[in-house]
Parts: sequence; C-alpha cells; structure tokens
Amino acid sequence: MIEVAQFRNQTIAVLGLARSGLAAAVALKSGGAKVVAWDDAPGRRTEASRAGFDLVDLAADLAGAKALVLSPGIPHTFPQPHPAAARAKAAGVPIIGDIELLALAQKAARFAGVSGTNGKSTTTALIGHILAESGRKVAVGGNLGVPALRLEALGADGIYVLELSSYQLELTHSLVLDVAVLLNITPDHLDRHGGMDGYVAAKQRLFRGQAARHTAVVGVDDDICRGICTALVNANRQRVIPISGNRAVERGVYVANGMLVDDLDATARPVLSMTEAPRLPGMHNSQNAAAAYAAARALGCEPDAIVRAILTFPGLAHRQELIATIDGIRYVNDSKATNADAAEKALICYDDIYWIAGGRAKEDGIDALAPLFPRIRHAFLIGEAADRFARTLDGRVAHETSGTLDAAVAAARHAALNDRRRGAVVLLSPACASFDQFRDFEDRGDHFRRLVEKLPGRRA
Ligand code: ADP
Repeated sequence: MIEVAQFRNQTIAVLGLARSGLAAAVALKSGGAKVVAWDDAPGRRTEASRAGFDLVDLAADLAGAKALVLSPGIPHTFPQPHPAAARAKAAGVPIIGDIELLALAQKAARFAGVSGTNGKSTTTALIGHILAESGRKVAVGGNLGVPALRLEALGADGIYVLELSSYQLELTHSLVLDVAVLLNITPDHLDRHGGMDGYVAAKQRLFRGQAARHTAVVGVDDDICRGICTALVNANRQRVIPISGNRAVERGVYVANGMLVDDLDATARPVLSMTEAPRLPGMHNSQNAAAAYAAARALGCEPDAIVRAILTFPGLAHRQELIATIDGIRYVNDSKATNADAAEKALICYDDIYWIAGGRAKEDGIDALAPLFPRIRHAFLIGEAADRFARTLDGRVAHETSGTLDAAVAAARHAALNDRRRGAVVLLSPACASFDQFRDFEDRGDHFRRLVEKLPGRRA
C-alpha cells in the first residue's frame, strides 16, 4: 500500500469512492492529509464514512481543498463536467487522479505505462510477467486489477507497469514514463473527449516530459498511431521504437509471417514463432507481444529471457481464455468481447466454431462479421440480442435461440460432439454487453467457466 505524504496537513477532496477512490483516500490520509470525500451514490458514502472519512458534498463546497482527486469514470470536461469538477476548475484547484498521486509518492521508482484503444490489459500483464520472470521488482496495476495506490511501495529499484486509460491520462500531470507504450487508436469514448482530436490528445499525454533516456513504443498498424510515431521521431526527444503485429518495421519489433522479429539493432533477428505462444492467438496479440518485447528490451531485459517469459504467459481471463479441452472440443471464454469488433478478433482464430453470442446488443450489431460466418458451424443465441442476431444469421449460418448461457453451453457441446470435427471450438464471444443477464463481463465469463468445469467427458 502506498502512502502519499506530499499533502501533509493540507485538505484534499476525493470525489468517487469506489475501489480506486477509496484507495486514494486511504493513501492520502495515511500520509497526513485531511481528506474530505464524496460519492453521488449513498451506499459508497456510508462505506467511506464507516472507514472514518469526513463526507462533504463537493458539488456545493470544496472545503478549502488544495486539490480534487477524481475517479477516472467521472467526467471533468465532456460531455459535461461533474459540478464538483466545474467548481474546482472555476476556483483554480487542480484536478488529479490516483496515478498522479502514485507518481508523486514513488518518485524514485521507474514507470512503464500502456495505453491504446485495445490490448492495454493484455500488454500490461505481459510486460509485468516478463519483468517478474526476469527477476525484477515489479508491480502491475492501474486500470487493470489492483488500483494504483493499493500497489506495493517499491522504491528506487522497482518498476511500476501501469495500464493507463485515456481518462486516467487526463488526470495525470507530473508522471514521466520511462517506457510509454501506445498500441493503437480507433474511435472510442468520443463523447468523453469532445471528439477524435480530444481522444488522440489524451493518448499523446503518454509521452509528456520524455527525454533522451526515455522510450516511446508505438504501434504503426493504424493511421493515427503511425502519424504519432512519425511526429515523435521527427521531434527527436526520446528513443522511439515502432512496433507492428503484421509487417516489418525498420529498427523496430514486429511480427511478420508469424515470426516475432527484433530489428532494434538492424539485424532483423527472428526470436519467436508466435505459434509457440498459444495464449497469444491472433494478429492483435502479435501486436501486443511485439509491444511487450520492445518495452522489456527498453527496460534492460535480455532477448532470451523475454522469449522464455512470453512462452509461459498464462494469458488473461475472459480474453480467448482456454477453459478446457473435453473430448477433443476446446471451450474458449472470450466474454470480454462486448462488441463485434472484439468478437471478430476471436472468430478469425478458429475454423470450426460453435459460437455462443448475444446479450445486450451494441448499435452496430454483427453485420460486420459476415466475412467470418463461413467459420461458424452453428450459433447459439442468448439474451436480448437473440432475435436481432437471428435475423442477421438467417439463411447464412445455422442457428438457434438458446436464451440462457446454461442452455447454450449444453446445446453447443451436443452439436460439436455430434459433428465430430477435429479442432472444434465452443466459443463464448458474445459481441454484446452482459448487463441483461449478468453483473458484468467477468460475471458472464465466470459463469461460463463454471458450466464448462461441470461438463462430463475426457479432458486433455
Ligand atoms: P483493453 O484493456 O484495451 O480493453 P484487452 O487486453 O483487455 O484490452 O483486450 C480486450 C479485447 O480487445 C480482446 O479480447 C481482443 O478482442 C481485443 N484486442 C486485444 N488486443 C488487441 C490489439 N492489439 N488490437 C486490437 N484488438 C485487440
């Protein structure tokens, strides 16, 4: 647990008292600050009050606070600032987030930060795994897993590996990343950033303050990031390593023809065939692996050690997670795929798919997945989206409405067993949000795991 001593004897306001906000309040209090706290949800206020924090409605009164610590989910600019944030802005009170507090409290440590529209969690976890396997003192968190201020205090020889969302980057001002990784940028969360320019500007904050001893690892597989990479190279402030998941990039790290290649010293050395890393399937994971390799090299890890660690990476839950192989059928949990774009990444990886899809549909539906329909042997539809998805699949893919995940798993198993195709996959990749039937995507994926664990048959 981190102690933030920079605000000793000063009043600091904390708005948003879920996991990261509460951790910030505790870290500030243990460092000697006077904390005034608020959350618009009464339940969270009760919890904070029980933990000994003074509650003040910050929208009405900032109580003389020297700074406002905001949870990243609370808007401070677009679409509309929370009234407490508007009040802070008008009064010239700085608005900061928990990553900023971590940076202030752990000035001696080194920091690696990962951002991008997709792949942040996987890449962050992979970098953390490589560093840990290389014997480094490392803590992994931020947007992923443990809130930043609940991490261990590492000190001078430690490295924090942080997943940084664009919201968190906007609330972070003094952090200079030793290694900043920007994977990719596609339109997302535009309402919160006032459009694409705002979103891109937030992501570029990753590179703020970097100088010659720092490294920027930048994906060049989309136009926006390619442009950012070129601009960084031209500005010549920090070392820039371009990375790609699908083509050769000079002086970079890339995957081409399934091979991870290290060209940092212009020798184009093949270091790993991605087929040997089954926990990182698909071109999207090749991008993640290239980025993690480059980041670990920039942090001083040896190529051989990095490759060994990539091979032992266990993968993250709910992202093409292989739960079990039973009677030759693989059961894969990709519950994190809450839209068609993410489901596409999984569908592209397998040939004979028994697809479980549905939930609360996103606006774009699954029309865009049509080129992948030939891979789907049968679809089992659940949740609110079942009728709509059925209409899209009619005449193109055999399908049935299962309604619940329980029924879908049973039916998919039955169908896959009857067809006896080698390499068949029962894939939960719903292309939908989960909220119609589950608490969140984790709850949905955990339920799938429990169902698969109970299935009879011979396990590989
Ligand atoms: P994030 O933390 O950015 O949401 P995750 O690592 O949790 O990303 O991956 C979420 C989903 O995004 C994956 O299941 C996959 O469908 C997709 N994805 C992962 N990495 C990438 C990538 N580099 N490019 C595009 N899509 C990706």
